[in-house]
Amino acid sequence: MRCNMNAVRAVPAGKSLSRLLTLLHGLATCEAMNEVDCTPVATDALPAAAAPRRRTVAVNVGGVAIGGDAPIVVQSMTNTDTADIDATVAQVAALARAGSQIVRVTVDRAEAAAAVPHIRDRLAKQGVEVPLVGDFHYIGHTLLADHPECAEALAKYRINPGNVGFGQKRDRHFAAIVETAIRHGKAIRIGANWGSLDQALLTRLMDENAKADAPLSAAAVTREAMVQSALNSAHEAERIGLGRDRIVLSAKVSQVQELIAVYRMLAARTDHALHLGLTEAGMGSKGVVASSAALGILLQDGIGDTIRVSLTPEPGGDRTQEVRVCQELLQTMGFRAFAPVVAACPGCGRTTSTVFQELARSVQDHIAARMPVWKESCPGVEAMQVAVMGCIVNGPGESRHADIGISLPGTGEAPAAPVFVDGKKLTTLRGPALAEAFLQIVEDYVARRFGAAGADDAA
Ligand code: SF4
Repeated sequence: MRCNMNAVRAVPAGKSLSRLLTLLHGLATCEAMNEVDCTPVATDALPAAAAPRRRTVAVNVGGVAIGGDAPIVVQSMTNTDTADIDATVAQVAALARAGSQIVRVTVDRAEAAAAVPHIRDRLAKQGVEVPLVGDFHYIGHTLLADHPECAEALAKYRINPGNVGFGQKRDRHFAAIVETAIRHGKAIRIGANWGSLDQALLTRLMDENAKADAPLSAAAVTREAMVQSALNSAHEAERIGLGRDRIVLSAKVSQVQELIAVYRMLAARTDHALHLGLTEAGMGSKGVVASSAALGILLQDGIGDTIRVSLTPEPGGDRTQEVRVCQELLQTMGFRAFAPVVAACPGCGRTTSTVFQELARSVQDHIAARMPVWKESCPGVEAMQVAVMGCIVNGPGESRHADIGISLPGTGEAPAAPVFVDGKKLTTLRGPALAEAFLQIVEDYVARRFGAAGADDAA
């Protein structure tokens, strides 16, 4: 029997081949290990990294670059009535402070369009300079024409080619929006969505497919219609005079596999910057998991320049959750760092007390509370890794891998918690003041490594 070593394409730098083989034996799904032929095959690289980022044309959205060499941008959308200026200002500010680099607001009627410049001004007075994107459907051309202050206050207009208008009206409305963007020097996102796909295009492709010798499935034709809808509109916008560096594309669907397929098709056919998002992702863990799965796979492929996780909040729930999910996804995958990561074991029958869960929570809360200060005074701290582990099984090992780690005593172990810093044991903590002592070690480490003193040492 041949094992999964056939799939191995590389040996990671710094690992010996024998160590690698030992590791892979543990992973291989062989029926009988003693029959395994583990001869390495074509081992020129075992990538522990995403595919290289796809090259796209960078788009400047109110000072935030999407695409090109820019880091993957986190964005979000409000769910307030934009005409309610107080509520919208409060929510945009909360999203921006949570880390949303761009915030989209609904512009669905004259009152909303009239509110936009006031929202922008009120945010500026609070020191919140986040670029605003207007989400337009059906009457965007009219709203932008009637409210030039709105057109100027927005950094980008999001339009859906499926509902700009129909027939010749569609072309006129689309051209009017593009011309407004050109006049004001703004960007546009052309966002196809399978819930409001251009029906004329879909019908034409379905008819052509029906006459084909080997017709595709309806799902495949729909994917093609999504891609063509986005690309045709982008080409039309460029023909009217909008620069490629002012156009972002998206093609959102609500099913994970469909989304992955559509974006792979789109990415293969254009170098426009791409906005990723699963539309109608859902509530709670369902929305988080579905978005993470879909976006994670695309990002791993090198596809995606900006992301939004469209979570349905609980009634009265915290809208900023979608920002945190974006950040955690990007940080988990190693694309960006936003805040130190606390790795905690899940706990099991070896740790029957809640001490380690409480300590993990305390460390997490402490970091969240300190980040606004650390961000200013301790650059680089966001890449720090802290481990809080429940027992001796994985505790010391995992703690050594982290920048700072603590291994708490499991059931039946001596009541002592060794602390590791930069892979070496620093001290052993005991007793009721253990949590405070560990947090102080974290504080000292951050100040020493990332603070002004650390920077002086490094210089
Ligand atoms: S480190 Fe210990 S307590 Fe935590 S999951 Fe592993 S065995 Fe269980």
